[in-house]
Amino acid sequence: MTASVACDVLVVGGGNAAMAAALSACDHCASVIVIERAPKFYRGGNSRHTRDFRIMHEKPTEHMLATYSPDEFLDDLRRVAGGEMDEGLARLVVERSEALPAWLSQQGVRWQEPLAGTLHLARTNMFMLGGGRAMMNAYYRTAEKKRIAIWYDAMLEDIDIAGNVFGSAQVRKNGEVVRIRACAVVFAAGGYEANISWLRQHWGDAADNFIIRGTAYNQGNTIDLLLSAGAEPVGHPQAFHAVAVDGRAPKFDGGIVTRLDSVPFGIVVNQRGERFYDEGEDFWPKRYAIWGGLIARQPGQVAYSIIDSKVVDKFMPSVFPPIVASSVADLAIRLGLDASRVQQTVDTYNAAVQPGTFRPGDLDDCRTVGVEPCKSHWAQRIDTPPFYAYPLRAGITFTYRGVRIGPDARVQLAGGGAMENAFAAGEMVAGNVLRRGYLAGFGLTMGAVVGRIAGEGAARVAR
Ligand SMILES: Cc1cc2nc3c(=O)[nH]c(=O)nc-3n(C[C@H](O)[C@H](O)[C@H](O)COP(=O)(O)OP(=O)(O)OC[C@H]3O[C@@H](n4cnc5c(N)ncnc54)[C@H](O)[C@@H]3O)c2cc1C
Repeated sequence: MTASVACDVLVVGGGNAAMAAALSACDHCASVIVIERAPKFYRGGNSRHTRDFRIMHEKPTEHMLATYSPDEFLDDLRRVAGGEMDEGLARLVVERSEALPAWLSQQGVRWQEPLAGTLHLARTNMFMLGGGRAMMNAYYRTAEKKRIAIWYDAMLEDIDIAGNVFGSAQVRKNGEVVRIRACAVVFAAGGYEANISWLRQHWGDAADNFIIRGTAYNQGNTIDLLLSAGAEPVGHPQAFHAVAVDGRAPKFDGGIVTRLDSVPFGIVVNQRGERFYDEGEDFWPKRYAIWGGLIARQPGQVAYSIIDSKVVDKFMPSVFPPIVASSVADLAIRLGLDASRVQQTVDTYNAAVQPGTFRPGDLDDCRTVGVEPCKSHWAQRIDTPPFYAYPLRAGITFTYRGVRIGPDARVQLAGGGAMENAFAAGEMVAGNVLRRGYLAGFGLTMGAVVGRIAGEGAARVAR
């Protein structure tokens, strides 16, 4: 016989959005069960890999410089959204972001001093001391103190939704099936970026060569269950956020340290030894997120960043050492590429480089003329040995496809109306605000704001 338990609010997932929902529901007098598919060590999904929240603020704070107005925040979102943004929900997230630092501090999250260096985020973003892992530990410690029940190795397998009312969930906990009846539910189980067979439906065999930067547990079955129960979909199934990562990164969970920022300092060639995109199109923080998609469309989904010794110390080094050789041809052989083709590509590029003043902090006048694709900035000849290379692959951060929610975080139905007692938050609803593009720190901010709204709403329904 299937074991059965009951609670006021069931929270599905174990990352930032889920824990924000669980703690908020608990603060509004509800008994809460959190089911996290991962074992305890891997709890916290992709949130465990994060570093910062994007926060609106009208005055300088201890942890952020100057001001970041709601209008500027919204303009930044509009700029990356490419005309596809839910303005109402975006404004809600932006305005409520202001209260997040104080609330997160109450949950035990601690913060770094404003960040110096090349990221240029000290005014707009707040960095967690100890990063995402420390934040998740703080969330879970507080949840345990508040006697929220946390089930690890507990995967949502099925849901019982009749019309627009959630009744119960079938959960596989340590291999056993348990039914949880709840007055309300919050779904916050991330995207489906780790589900290679789903990615294959839209990317074909190329998907086998993708690297997943975060957790292997975000398989998307919760999104699937909700869509089958009549929820309205949002976001395109092929859309994802992907960056260039070191090709030697592990298949899953490599996190932030595998990202490679060498691209603007040299050239990038594909397996045929050919360049395929302007490496110096714009500042790297504005361009790094297109390189995952570019590499995903190359043969074998692999590319190689080639630089020389003039620039090897100009970017954050990869966690893996570069491949080194004393000539371009030797470098190509070490990469397994056709040496004469790579030599020809480098020679053609070198001949196209125009005189200019190399200024890595500005959109400088170092560019090429007469080569396709051109390199618009930071183009210097690759001529000073030793020569270095990094293999690159597409590192998928998250997907955009999910379920539509209303401003109260209730799941919307494809046929109109909303579910009465089912809410959703986090990456599985990210497509409600952005269906493409991304703004650093927005994933956590949206997850925590909507998670809190969902948790509070679920507790109210339960009462
Ligand atoms: C390397 C990396 C760095 C990043 N850095 C930042 C950053 O600094 N700032 C920022 O804002 N964003 C960042 N992001 C994006 C950010 O991680 C996400 O926006 C955010 O963590 C999503 O939170 P979430 O709670 O929706 O999902 P997650 O944190 O991924 O949590 C989903 C949870 O659901 C669980 N789950 C999945 N399926 C089931 C199921 N069927 N049953 C039960 N549980 C299930 C998973 O185990 C997981 O714990 C980064 C992402 C990556 C990969």
